[in-house]
Amino acid sequence: MKLHWETKILETRWAWRIARGAFSEIRYHYITLEHEGITGYGEAAHNGRYGETLETIGEFLAKAKRVLEAGNPCCYEPLIGKIHELAKGQHAAKAAIDMALHDWAAQRLGCPLHELWGLDPARIPLTSYSLGIDEEAVLVQKLAEAEPYPILKIKLGTPEDEAIVRTVRRHTDKVLRVDANEGWTDRELARDRVAMLEEMNVEFVEQPLPADQLDDVAWLRSESALPLVADEDVTAPASLKALAAAYDGVNLKVMKVGGLQRTLQMIHTARSLGLKVMLGCMIESSLGITAAAHLAPLVDWADLDGHLLLKDDPFQGVLATGGQLSLPGRPGIGVQAAAA
Ligand code: MG
Repeated sequence: MKLHWETKILETRWAWRIARGAFSEIRYHYITLEHEGITGYGEAAHNGRYGETLETIGEFLAKAKRVLEAGNPCCYEPLIGKIHELAKGQHAAKAAIDMALHDWAAQRLGCPLHELWGLDPARIPLTSYSLGIDEEAVLVQKLAEAEPYPILKIKLGTPEDEAIVRTVRRHTDKVLRVDANEGWTDRELARDRVAMLEEMNVEFVEQPLPADQLDDVAWLRSESALPLVADEDVTAPASLKALAAAYDGVNLKVMKVGGLQRTLQMIHTARSLGLKVMLGCMIESSLGITAAAHLAPLVDWADLDGHLLLKDDPFQGVLATGGQLSLPGRPGIGVQAAAA
């Protein structure tokens, strides 16, 4: 098996601003795994929040190359086990490899990836469309662009939170979800913001407080009517049990947890703990989003919009017409390079 990787630059349509920072351009590593004439594709949409950089991902891929080139993609389980043992963290790199192995296997079997798991693509929930933090004039333009999408996810965690939500609510009565991205630094502030959001008819709130403050989240939950969903607090499968005591649901991301197989395992573990499940994403191309969408029939909420926020998506795959994700019918993940 041959592993290759290259860097691609993704540009966002608007500067992407959340509570902890902003960017309008990002570089990721993209990999291919080639064996017996079949090529599997993977994306490593790393995130600095989890201690990953383009350089650390590249270093991990260099280590993984030896393991992969000595391995057989038909023996997925022992192979991915060795990949996970190579280093702690670096989940985006592991996700890229796991994605490419799944793509390879499903192509080899001649079926779309979701068929390997026996999933019905008609059960994929509508995806939300995310609005990054911005001033009112830009938000209004973004709302116009978001017109086809019936569910919006608003990024908050700023001193202007109430003004942002009032602006959005003045223009739309769509379903609104909120992500504070750890931006409310104490529990009383979080309680007041959640009460305001309840008045604004928001559906739920994601990661209200900084990670690792589960006692405060449990208190907030006892004081608030809206469901609370963990994102930055969700890391490893073992984190789920503690989260179930504080949160109503979890946002699982293939890039954050280290691959499709681990996401699948965590979906089932979360369900067994009574947690609702959202399938989320980073800013990603259609490659990572389409791979994740193959798992989406299993979840309550889809937030698979990273590719919709790009100016120049290097791949084409899943469509999101009116927020309804529809998978390509081709074998494997089913993406193709975007037309030049
Ligand atoms: Mg989030």
